[in-house]
Amino acid sequence: MDVPWECVGCVGGVESSVHLFLHCPSAMMVWYEVFRWLGMVIVIPPSLFILFEVLRGSARNVKLRQGFLMIWHATLWCIWKARNSSIFANGSFVPKVIVDEIKVMSWKWCLTRMKLSPCLFYEWT
Ligand SMILES: [Zn+2]
Repeated sequence: MDVPWECVGCVGGVESSVHLFLHCPSAMMVWYEVFRWLGMVIVIPPSLFILFEVLRGSARNVKLRQGFLMIWHATLWCIWKARNSSIFANGSFVPKVIVDEIKVMSWKWCLTRMKLSPCLFYEWT
């Protein structure tokens, strides 16, 4: 009954949540880019929980931690959204597009929740 989805981010992958969000080559590219944007080089760990700990641990202060948390949520959300649009709306799963979307979304969230000034987007990206 439970037929697995074929992964939209790669050929031949069977979609599980850890594959889709972490181990799929496309998801890995997204994470590498997001971390590179934050000035970090990472090795993709075996679980999302560990990745989260890596991200959280590298934030040196509370404000940065809040920002990283938003980026974390934006990343998961954008991967999920791209996955759904590939399956249901004939969209595509392109890491670079997803990363751009993550940047814009995190920036918007920072504006509303942290009340940063809009001009920060240039520093931000
Ligand atoms: Zn995949």
